[in-house]
Amino acid sequence: MSEVLYLDDSYLKEFDAEVVSVNEDKFVALDKTAFYPNSGGQPWDEGVMIKGNEKFKVIFVGKFSGNISHEVDHPGLQPGDKVHCVIDWDRRYKLMQAHTASHVLSGLIHNETGALISGNQLGVDKNRIDFSLEDYDREKIIEYVARANELLKKGLEVTTRYMPREEALKDPSMVRLANALPPNIETLRIVSIGAVDTQADGGTHVKNTSEIGELEFLKADNKGKNNRRVYYKINY
Ligand SMILES: [Zn+2]
Repeated sequence: MSEVLYLDDSYLKEFDAEVVSVNEDKFVALDKTAFYPNSGGQPWDEGVMIKGNEKFKVIFVGKFSGNISHEVDHPGLQPGDKVHCVIDWDRRYKLMQAHTASHVLSGLIHNETGALISGNQLGVDKNRIDFSLEDYDREKIIEYVARANELLKKGLEVTTRYMPREEALKDPSMVRLANALPPNIETLRIVSIGAVDTQADGGTHVKNTSEIGELEFLKADNKGKNNRRVYYKINY
């Protein structure tokens, strides 16, 4: 298993690592990594691995059997190679801003309505949250987005800590996507944003909501009886 560096330092942009395995000439596992794998609604990091003078583009990062695998654009890497890795920071930082913002907006909607969040998809250009809410009111959702913006401007601190799984599960609001948690994880990483949201979460976040910018409501859809889908973007 590789050491996962982004969990305790989301701002790490470059690091040195050793290649542990290479499958099909392009799927690379490292002894440690700060590349975020596609998971939990947050897209994967892009970037490069550099060996000597040769650059390998990282085009996809996924998690397979619990281990992080990096897909590179051409063959040439071998187990034992030392590589210097650089994350595409522009992309990743936008996704960090988007991730923290999505917690603020879904925390606010949950606190106001009791709605459960059933899914989310972050993106550099567009974000989506799905939640269960019977009475749908477009004006209300626009108001929640405006209130989320007020919260962002307050400069709420984002903190991370670890907690035994059993303890965290006692508080259902802390594990909104409880069924998405792998059952074999004993210790959960808990991300708190001021008093607005506290969640078990494996994603990368900014340190303070003042780093985010403004959310802009795009549209809302009904996806079935109790399922609302809201699209918004971030003006960074
Ligand atoms: Zn999250």
